[in-house]
Amino acid sequence: MIKLPKGKIHRIPLDPEELFEELPIEVSPRWASERVRKQDVWLELGGPKHDYKSFVIVEIVGMDEIDPGKVEIIGPDLDEIEPGTTYPVGYSLKIAGEKLTDDYAGYFERWAIDNHTRVEGLMYLNMRDTVWMRLHTRLQGRLTSLKYLPQAIMGIFMAQVPMVEAMEARLIVASEEVGGKELMGKMTEEICKPIWESRDAKLDELSDEDTDTFFGCTLCQSFAPNHCCVIAPDRTPFCGVINWDNIRVGIEVDPAGYSFEVAKGECINPLMGEYSGVTETIYNRSNQTLKKINLYSAIKYPLTT
Ligand code: SF4
Repeated sequence: MIKLPKGKIHRIPLDPEELFEELPIEVSPRWASERVRKQDVWLELGGPKHDYKSFVIVEIVGMDEIDPGKVEIIGPDLDEIEPGTTYPVGYSLKIAGEKLTDDYAGYFERWAIDNHTRVEGLMYLNMRDTVWMRLHTRLQGRLTSLKYLPQAIMGIFMAQVPMVEAMEARLIVASEEVGGKELMGKMTEEICKPIWESRDAKLDELSDEDTDTFFGCTLCQSFAPNHCCVIAPDRTPFCGVINWDNIRVGIEVDPAGYSFEVAKGECINPLMGEYSGVTETIYNRSNQTLKKINLYSAIKYPLTT
C-alpha cells in the first residue's frame, strides 16, 4: 500500500469558457513542441536527472468515482521553489463519461500528452514512463500555480471531446519530503505498469490476420508532405505514439482528424506484409509518390517511418 502525503486541493471551473478565461497562459498550436533550454528552466519535472522515475497516466473511471474539477497538487508549488529546481513527477488524470470505456484510456493518454505540448512556456517530452517537462522562467510572475497545467488540459478535453463529462487531476511534485524518485519508481512499478500492461495485452492477442481493417495516419505531413503510415495490429509505427487499438477509438473521437480506415484488401505477400488495400491507400495519401509498401520490411519498400 502506497501512502501519499496530503496535497493542496484546487477547484477548476466546470464551464469551459470560465476555465479558459482564468488561465494566465496561452494554449495554442503555435506553442507546440516549444523547447526550454537549461539556462531558462524555472522548474523541471521528470527526465534524465531522476533516471526517468516519473510517470503520466490517464484512466477512465465511472461517474461515481470522480470529483469533477478537482486538482490536487502534492509537494511544492511554484511559489515555494527557486528557479532551476528539478524534481521527479507523478501526474494522473481521471476521465469519466457515460459513453466512455477503458478502450479510450490509451488514446486519451496520448492525446493529453500531445495537448501539453501546446501549453505556452512548457516543454513536454516523451511518453507515459519517461516523461520530461520544463517550465520557462519567462512565466514567472504570470503563472502562480502548477494547477493551471491540468486546468489547461481539462479545458481542451471538455471543449473538444463531448464524450468527456468530468475530469480530475493529481500532480505529485516528488521532492525528498514527498518521497523523491524512490516513491515515483514504486508508483510506476506497482500502480501504473499493471494498468499499462493489461491495456497492451489486449492488442497482443490480436494479429493482422484477425482483422479486415488497418488504419492510416498522416499527422507528420505537417513537416513531411508525402508521409503516410499504415498501422496494423502487428505493425505499430516507429514513432511509437499510437497503435492499432488507440487509432481505432481515435477515429470515433475525431472523425475529421489525421487518422483514417484502410481496407486491407488481398494479401499479396504474407512474408513481406504486402496488401492490395494498403498499396492503393498509400499511393493516394502520399500525393501519389509511394507506389508500394511492405508492412514487415524495413529495407524493401518500407513504411515512411
Ligand atoms: S509517424 Fe506515422 S503514425 Fe506516427 S504520428 Fe507520424 S504519421 Fe502518425
